[in-house]
Amino acid sequence: MWDVPGGMKLILSQKHFRQILAHARAEAPNEACGLLAGRDGYVTHILPATNVADNPLVGYLMDPQDQLDHFQAIEEQGLEMLGIYHSHPVSPAYPSPTDLSMAYYPEAVYAIVSLMQSDSPVMRAFRLIDNRISEVAFSVMPSGASASCSPLAC
Ligand SMILES: [Zn+2]
Repeated sequence: MWDVPGGMKLILSQKHFRQILAHARAEAPNEACGLLAGRDGYVTHILPATNVADNPLVGYLMDPQDQLDHFQAIEEQGLEMLGIYHSHPVSPAYPSPTDLSMAYYPEAVYAIVSLMQSDSPVMRAFRLIDNRISEVAFSVMPSGASASCSPLAC
C-alpha cells in the first residue's frame, strides 16, 4: 500500500504545506492528523482525519472510518499513499515516545509539523522502524507565483 521510492523522500508544494499548517492551527491545542497521497514522493493530496485519541493534546489516532474512506479515495484516484502527518502544537518536530510506540506502518513516512514557534513552523519527516528513528529528506517546493523561498529555508 505504501510506495515511497526508496522510502526516503517527501516533497510538498507551498499550497499543501499551508494546508497542513492550517489544519494544525485549526486543531490546536489538540494534535491534528491526516494522510499524504501523491506520486513518486511528490504530495498531491492532503487528506485530513479526525483525531480520536483519548488525549488529543499529546497524541493522535486517526478515526478508522476517515482512514478507510481515505484509503479508498487514494486507490480510486490511482494515487500512492506517501505518509502520515500530524502536528505537535507545543513540542519540536521530532517523534515522541508515543509516536514511536504507535508507529504501526514501517513503510510509511511520518511527517511532523511543529507549531512550537508559531511564527516559524517547522516540518520534518521520518521513518519509524523497530523503535528506531531515521530522518527522511523533506522539502517544500517554492510555488510559481508567490515568494521564491520555502518557509523552511527563509
Ligand atoms: Zn507526535
